[in-house]
Amino acid sequence: MSELKKYKMFIDGEWVESDTKKTFETLNPENNKPWALVPEASANDVDKAVKAAQKAFEGEWPRLLPRERGKFLRAIANKLRENAELLGEIETIDTGKLFRETKKQANYIAEYYDYYAGMADKVEGTVLPIDKPNIQAITTRIPIGVIAAVIPWNSQMLLTVTKLAPALAMGNTVVIKSSELAPAVLFEFAKLVEETGIPKGVVNVITGFGDPCGKALTTHNLVEKIAFTGGPETARHIIRNSAENLSEVSLELGGKSPVAVFDDANQENAINGITAGIFGASGQSCIAGSRLYLQKGIYNEFLDKLIKRAEKIKIGTPMDPESEMGPISNFKQLEIIEKNIKLTVEQGGKIKCGGKRHSFSNEGYYFPPTIIECDNHNLPTAENELFGPILSVMKFENENEVINKMNDNQYGLSSGVYTADFSRGMRVSKAIRAGITFVNTYRLISPSAPFGGMKDSGYGKEAGIESIKDYTRVKTTWYYTSDKPTLDPFSMR
Ligand code: NAD
Repeated sequence: MSELKKYKMFIDGEWVESDTKKTFETLNPENNKPWALVPEASANDVDKAVKAAQKAFEGEWPRLLPRERGKFLRAIANKLRENAELLGEIETIDTGKLFRETKKQANYIAEYYDYYAGMADKVEGTVLPIDKPNIQAITTRIPIGVIAAVIPWNSQMLLTVTKLAPALAMGNTVVIKSSELAPAVLFEFAKLVEETGIPKGVVNVITGFGDPCGKALTTHNLVEKIAFTGGPETARHIIRNSAENLSEVSLELGGKSPVAVFDDANQENAINGITAGIFGASGQSCIAGSRLYLQKGIYNEFLDKLIKRAEKIKIGTPMDPESEMGPISNFKQLEIIEKNIKLTVEQGGKIKCGGKRHSFSNEGYYFPPTIIECDNHNLPTAENELFGPILSVMKFENENEVINKMNDNQYGLSSGVYTADFSRGMRVSKAIRAGITFVNTYRLISPSAPFGGMKDSGYGKEAGIESIKDYTRVKTTWYYTSDKPTLDPFSMR
């Protein structure tokens, strides 16, 4: 126990243990061993964090000049760049994601803070063409108040910035609840936020389980908005919780993203994109392209090439710069993957590569790139979100057929199309009921590109110009402009 790294929570600018003194161990997916001890927030701790955020909201933070708030965001960006190595390493130990990816991502996330720093003084109001004499009416965008940011275990840093940066830029205060499955990196991040000198209580970071911690946070009467990323089942709890405090909710949920490859596609390009889309981050990405539709004319040839490419992927420890795929993040996920593969095979699915736990390490949760040929997309691996390196492959004949198949799933987050025909790319993109479509590419993100889904993938967008408005409310102010007194309230003229 003494070797475990010990973390505290960041509440009201102080580093604190849980008031119950309860802690839990977080496991390293590389070897299934505990590596850090983390406080488990009680409902009382949550209350303290939310009250600290409310006090900060009543203080100087929302009244600072927007550009001054922007300076804090830039300072956070710089801290991220200076500490990308440390943040990457901690995220890697906590999630099993490759260090070369987490380090690069920590640097790139700095760009999001810079983007929203620049937007802090760009959000404008309007002058209303009002239908009353002697009245000038305007709208302004004002901050909402305390934001609860509820984060899942994958990409903690990325899924925090898309909530925190616009929230802070607009003058809100935030309580971040990191996932109990990978809580450490956000505590490291909180240390950097503290170093910027941001006023106490503006950013608070806690962790704990869905119940009591997540529940206490999302039902708290001082929380005005819940920005949630996670699975659809938890989202249903969140919506019910929001009935308690009538808070606004935004939901970034799962996906089962379809990718279509037409006969005319550049095959090498398509193979690179598909490989990145499903095997990058061991498939533990909400936009993982996990349902692949190949047009009949290229089906056998393309599938063979794809299998060869998948078999070349180098599995290794996440800190090794040579590794191309690391372990699955947690054991529960590994079991879900195995169960779905078993059911799919029982129903006729054919494993073309992978399919069984990787022998690389007995202790870690290693699973190889897996490709399964399916007669139809109702087989379990083709239908359910697995959050692993599992690609289900189906055949199609024509454009309309594949559009219908791509849309025939509960989710609508991402999608991909590979074709040499620009018009077809545009047509398919327009017809797909998903928040994102990649044409002849995949797995790209940017601070300026709105990110989010439709159907069971949730609602609300993160990143981009529009999303900053989601951290404001429109306020209407009426000015009486005449020197004469207003009319007697009971004279009807
Ligand atoms: P999850 O839904 O199990 O947990 C997400 C967060 O919600 C955790 O912090 C958890 O503690 C909290 N939580 C659980 N129960 C709660 C409750 N009753 N009240 C309040 N909070 C509660 O998700 P996960 O397993 O951590 O992450 C995987 C899911 O996240 C996948 O479905 C994935 O697709 C999705 N995801 C979506 C995006 C996106 O941007 N669309 C990005 C990454 C992950």
